[in-house]
Amino acid sequence: MTRLALVAVAVVLAVVPLASASRTGPEPYRRPHVPLPWEQRRAVTHALERGVPVYCGARRSNAVALTFDDGPGQYTERFLAILRDAGARATFFLVGNRLQYWPGLARQEAELGAVGNHTWSHPHLTQLPRWLAWLELARTQLAIAATGHEPRLFRAPYEQRDPTVDGVARSLGLVEVFWSVASEDDQPRATARRVVRNVLAGLRPGAIVLMHDIHPWTLRALPQILRAIRLRGLRAVTVPELLALDAPGEHQGCPLAPGVD
Ligand code: ZN
Repeated sequence: MTRLALVAVAVVLAVVPLASASRTGPEPYRRPHVPLPWEQRRAVTHALERGVPVYCGARRSNAVALTFDDGPGQYTERFLAILRDAGARATFFLVGNRLQYWPGLARQEAELGAVGNHTWSHPHLTQLPRWLAWLELARTQLAIAATGHEPRLFRAPYEQRDPTVDGVARSLGLVEVFWSVASEDDQPRATARRVVRNVLAGLRPGAIVLMHDIHPWTLRALPQILRAIRLRGLRAVTVPELLALDAPGEHQGCPLAPGVD
């Protein structure tokens, strides 16, 4: 009986790999890993526990994160359509007082990618007393959360942060996110060509790209940027996805990150 069982196991072991090999063929298509919601939440929590702002990933995957600040605005819907057609995701850092003019867009942005807090009125936060800085962030949290998607990311306007701003963000459970590539689409002489050139110059695994979805030249630049991402074998993900796929190490090592470690 035992010998029979052993023979049966041996036959099964010999046959199953052959059968599965003939089923899958030479090189099965591998779907890129998209982190599950709980993996993203865990990665954001880890980033929060690290207690330093995020500037880029660790370059261990092919993911890049496109980020758009200062919206929603009149072009946002078209940005969303281009991203959707390309199968790309992105992160939108929203200004709270603009949500009322573009109802419904924050929800669409959260569903296509992720949304973050970019304050209520885009002030110079470091010049405000703590209670006012807190109000800027807390009011925006509430407004965005009303869409059903509470942000866990925060970007300080003008990249102005100090221990007070850091503390306010932390008290609201928000990870500070900046960038490793500046598209410079908010500069006075910005054009679509310059935006494309600036982004492509810094486009590498783990990059976080700063753009604004309130400029027509950025809208014109976006298809070329998405094409370059595809041609370079990269893929556009959200910041929480980037944190899950390619969490920043002790030394972020991207050009624009200050000595945060
Ligand atoms: Zn801004």
